[in-house]
Amino acid sequence: MKILKTQTLRGPNYWSIRYPKLVIIRLDLEDLSDRPSNEIPGFYDGLVSLLPSLVEHYCSPGCRGGFLSRVQEGTMMGHIVEHVALELQTLAGMTVGFGRTRETSTPGVYQVVIEYKNEQAGRYAARAAVRLCQSIVDTGRYPVEELEQDLNDLRELAMEAALGPSTEHIVAAAEARGIPWMPLSTRSLIQLGYGEYQKRIQASLSSGTGILGVELASDKEGTKRLLAEAGVPVPRGTTIYYLDELEQAIEDVGGFPIVIKPLDGNHGRGITIDINSMAEAEEAYDAAQAASKSHAVIVERFYRGRDHRILLVGGKVVAVAERVPAHVVGNGRSTIAELVDETNRDPRRGTGHDNVLTQIELDRAAFQMLERQGYDLDTVLPMGQVCYLKATANLSTGGIAIDRTDDIHPENRWIAERAAKIIGLDIAGLDVVTPDISKPMREVDGVIVEVNAAPGLRMHFSPSEGTPRNVGEAIIDMLFPPGTPGRVPIVAVTGTNGKTTTNRLTAHIFKQTGQIVGYTTTDGIYIGDYLVEKGDTTGPQSAQVILQDPTVQVAVLETARGGILRSGLGFNQCDVGVVLNVAADHLGIGDIDTVEQLAHLKSVVAESVGVGGYAVLNADDPLVAAMAGRVKSQVAYFAMNPDNPTVQNHVAQGGLAAIYENGYLTLVKGDWALRLMEAASVPLTMGGRAPFMIANALAASLAAFAQGVPVEAIRQGLATFQASASQTPGRMNLFNLGEFHVLLDYAHNPHSYEALGGFVRNWNGERIGVIGGPGDRRDEDFITLGRLSAAIFDRIYIKEDNDTRGRARGSAAAFIEEGIRQIQPDLKYDVILDETEAINTALDQAPKDALVVILPESVSRAMSLIDARRPISEATTLQ
Ligand code: ATP
Ligand code: ATP
Ligand code: MG
Ligand code: MG
Repeated sequence: MKILKTQTLRGPNYWSIRYPKLVIIRLDLEDLSDRPSNEIPGFYDGLVSLLPSLVEHYCSPGCRGGFLSRVQEGTMMGHIVEHVALELQTLAGMTVGFGRTRETSTPGVYQVVIEYKNEQAGRYAARAAVRLCQSIVDTGRYPVEELEQDLNDLRELAMEAALGPSTEHIVAAAEARGIPWMPLSTRSLIQLGYGEYQKRIQASLSSGTGILGVELASDKEGTKRLLAEAGVPVPRGTTIYYLDELEQAIEDVGGFPIVIKPLDGNHGRGITIDINSMAEAEEAYDAAQAASKSHAVIVERFYRGRDHRILLVGGKVVAVAERVPAHVVGNGRSTIAELVDETNRDPRRGTGHDNVLTQIELDRAAFQMLERQGYDLDTVLPMGQVCYLKATANLSTGGIAIDRTDDIHPENRWIAERAAKIIGLDIAGLDVVTPDISKPMREVDGVIVEVNAAPGLRMHFSPSEGTPRNVGEAIIDMLFPPGTPGRVPIVAVTGTNGKTTTNRLTAHIFKQTGQIVGYTTTDGIYIGDYLVEKGDTTGPQSAQVILQDPTVQVAVLETARGGILRSGLGFNQCDVGVVLNVAADHLGIGDIDTVEQLAHLKSVVAESVGVGGYAVLNADDPLVAAMAGRVKSQVAYFAMNPDNPTVQNHVAQGGLAAIYENGYLTLVKGDWALRLMEAASVPLTMGGRAPFMIANALAASLAAFAQGVPVEAIRQGLATFQASASQTPGRMNLFNLGEFHVLLDYAHNPHSYEALGGFVRNWNGERIGVIGGPGDRRDEDFITLGRLSAAIFDRIYIKEDNDTRGRARGSAAAFIEEGIRQIQPDLKYDVILDETEAINTALDQAPKDALVVILPESVSRAMSLIDARRPISEATTLQ
């Protein structure tokens, strides 16, 4: 077996709308292509003994053991690779279950589709699955050590890419609310929502967290001062800069016991609590100073009590946890060292902040703590005796957390809510030391020790004891109050022809409402009236540029075949999905061999429309109309033929449609009809003479109407949109050269030539074509081009692209000639392979009143050749 190609999908795609994250390998089975699994001796046994858990895969039989029975009866190796790749990920802790395997049109070559949780891990699992299966085929086994190594590698890949626990918890809450999220490329920033509605988080900092609040919170002295002035209980304390101030400071706070900590520290570093002698105080002073950036040290009264963290979101207490420092409990047999080992074996304990709990490290602080209690590592603790290993309760030093949300006294809640507001934080973690959180802290001598910006969340959503609290939901509800939008409307446009034109027109119509429209086309990414980036920008990455832009209010995205095939859509759901048409183009590329497969690919756009949205479908195109059966949203049809039965049925049942009737673009719904405009007054349609442009205008108007754009704005958009060379370069640009006209158009497949022909045939003078097409099309496509051209033009110049895309020079031209001769053996044509030369010859020889139609390889090059002849005007509307 050999992997020919690996692709990673990240959005709704050809294989699935629901499972956007898929790895696809193109797998050549080679000598296994005619050997189903039952004909490979020992394969079944080798597989089952290595991966017995495959018994859980139901597969087509739909029951436990279903997949394994298929292996036993005989199935192809691609299918087995699929299941093994899924199982490897699942065993490594990334539970996945979606997969597909299909043979391509090349016998023995399969597409194997595998769901992933983590991209790198998914690709790894696919490779490992091939390796594993091949080894069982060849030797009857795959070494268990190898399997262990694979699983370890997979776990490591997952870990490397993992978000921090707080971030992960918040994005999970966003997903539950249907709010999209994406990592930005720097500073661990995560974007939630799209366009102007987006918010950002960085762990538990939000885009609403003010810098003043954050800086104040990290200044422990300043925080205490403001809180104390407001009557909020805080520790009595003072800040010193020199050792010789220590004694006085201790006296000022009322003598021992005291706490010494760095002025600007965190994570419990440099803190010593419960200090009872001058010698201890001096040592603590040194430790605190070393951990302080400013070398300033806080001396505080030590408050006896339990350690709590109160989490506030949007000014409200959402969770309270009691934190207990790292400790072990005696059993009468084990030494402290053994007890620590045993505790650290808890699989929930990892290192740093990565896991729910953290391992207890036997560091300096731990030994100090032991010494103070009169123990060492070899002490055997009596049954039930607690031994603390850390003085402070930070989870990151091995502490545990117990949920106390339901226990907090209302007065403490009130104090906490005021404190967070006084410091000015939308998300705050208050450290409170008090003997009993259910009693008012002012009665039991409790204090707020510190206010934290960016508090860790895991002690709340995953406490060691007590009820887990969904604090992520509270954060999401604060950032996106229920009922307010998180995403800007998305209109996605696909089809074989007319995408860019329709997309631009749709964007233009939306602009009439005064909103800022972000749109992507074959020629670039635009926001409002400005070009962001030039290039063929019809894929998911360009869509992301629009969706990440905080100024964008509406997104209108040209969504081409290539991008959907390569990596899926750049959004998980849209509001309006327009499918213009499906015609033979690009067949044979990317394992899309038939128009039906092409239709399936384009229907991804229609199927990704959310329940409340609209799929806008061309009723005149049977492949497009049929997509109605696959969508979950409402459907709106457009049709050039007002008698189209699909439309008539749909409208009779109260459905929405746009039709072309008696020269008008008209919206209909039930027995309601509204004439938008006469086609002749829509410049894009060239005086109503270009039928396919009328179809595009119907689609754009319908998309806008379905999304709630007022009719007046639609009319204004239709009336003012010019298919000028500057606005839509290469799309039906008509130039007046005095004696004759030139039409520059980027039609490049049979369907669009036919559409173009609809307009050209209406021309009264001589019709001259300068034609050719991209070399990666099939031979028969060039023949068709020749045949169609012969039916449209009176005279033809055949040329080729400079970039023949791998085809032999002259070969495309020969096929075009063949097509012409099949239809019009007498037609006058010349073969001039060089495009510049062909265009110049055609323009030099054009007779009076002629129309020269140029289908260029490069629009800008053709445009400059025309410009050199100083066109009188760009005649966009024919009278
Ligand atoms: P973190 O970043 O983990 O919150 P930190 O380095 O900012 O820690 P503090 O929150 O000021 O430090 O103190 C850490 C812990 O030490 C507190 O949660 C509390 O348990 C204890 N502590 C600090 N000051 C006092 C005090 N005055 N009295 C009693 N305990 C205290
Ligand atoms: P591409 O795949 O190159 O991005 P596109 O789908 O964006 O193409 P446009 O650039 O809008 O299409 O139009 C390309 C050409 O296709 C037009 O110049 C015209 O010749 C033809 N065309 C436009 N609209 C239609 C239509 N609705 N039906 C058939 N042909 C059309
Ligand atoms: Mg703290
Ligand atoms: Mg385009």
